[in-house]
Amino acid sequence: MNIISCDYIVTFDEKLQIFKNKAIAYEKQIVKIDSKENLLKEYPDALTEDFCKNSVLLPGLINTHIHLEYIKNKNRLEYGEFIKWLSSVVKYREELVSLSSSEAISEVLTALLKCGTTTIGEISSFGEDIEPCKKSAINVVLFNETLGSNPSAVDVLYQDFLQRYYKTLSLKDERFIPAISIHSPYSTHPILAKKALGLAKDAGCVVSTHFLESFAEREWLTNASGGFKEFLEKFVPNPKPLTTIDEYIELFIGIPTLFTHLTYASKEELKRIDSEFFITSCPVSNRLLENKKLDLKDIKNLTIATDGLTSNISLNLWDELRSALFIHEAIDADELSKKLLTSVTKNAGLALKLNKGVIKEGFDADMIVVDLNQDFDNIDTIYKWLILHTKKVEKTIILGEKA
Ligand SMILES: [Zn+2]
Repeated sequence: MNIISCDYIVTFDEKLQIFKNKAIAYEKQIVKIDSKENLLKEYPDALTEDFCKNSVLLPGLINTHIHLEYIKNKNRLEYGEFIKWLSSVVKYREELVSLSSSEAISEVLTALLKCGTTTIGEISSFGEDIEPCKKSAINVVLFNETLGSNPSAVDVLYQDFLQRYYKTLSLKDERFIPAISIHSPYSTHPILAKKALGLAKDAGCVVSTHFLESFAEREWLTNASGGFKEFLEKFVPNPKPLTTIDEYIELFIGIPTLFTHLTYASKEELKRIDSEFFITSCPVSNRLLENKKLDLKDIKNLTIATDGLTSNISLNLWDELRSALFIHEAIDADELSKKLLTSVTKNAGLALKLNKGVIKEGFDADMIVVDLNQDFDNIDTIYKWLILHTKKVEKTIILGEKA
């Protein structure tokens, strides 16, 4: 048994309780929260660890949407409009993928642990990330991605996807969980999507998809015109949209899915998706690619994520939360900070169907400690101070072990 004590414990439980001067007894899971004195009476042989005044313990952060296969981009790609960006990704894809070695991915994962990210939802396009993810102490939900719009290639593409999916299934353990990604409505043929989603349903795994990320995507799906028509004509003669917006949503009914971006969804579409699924917003990516933000105010099933470094400058979730706090200036800073931190702890745990993201008896002991360094008057402002000042954490614990 271990006992850890901090000045504050921010739980993200149903009542969003914040405890002062309490301690946590834990093994792989959280066993009990009480005063250190009481816990020591119950577990006299426990190993103890105390953190200083103004230290804050909270659940490890969960980044539900990240791409590790393009981690060496800095100045290569064009920002400002999605098709321009996509064309630059196609142009420099080989170069960017070849720079992202297993070692480079491992280094990034080690850095993420020091920043307090304990779980990632990795969107895996080629499978190059499987080995470093498996080797890392970080928890990984690995979304094997399926992509391809040419109907005559569906069988070959599905076989390639299956090969990657079964490889991850053979490596499955409590820290490495296979899942499925349908790239997007403009890039994945519905036959391919249906096959992969059938598998997700049978296996009971979570699904991720990019959806309504650009003006061009909406125009393409609703009018079969605009930038996507021109872009796709480079690859297929006389391209047609593969699906409508409503048909695409219907594909995912009954499957736990994270819809990522939705910056061009209508209010009705957002409401519908929010009531049945989870919504992942990547504020920096949306700012860089389309100068657009998702209105977070009414979204309940929200998770915030970084996306990859083709559309961000940092994979540190604290950087993303800070950006989100500044970008969404219409919402009160304290209210928004609470919502943002809830989105990368409790909500993200629910979205990925994990026993994580809450400090409560029975939940996995994935915990981080932050040193806030200075006293503050009002406990309700703690979420804001955490977001404004944290870059790295003092301690990262995953499934009861130091990471
Ligand atoms: Zn993405």
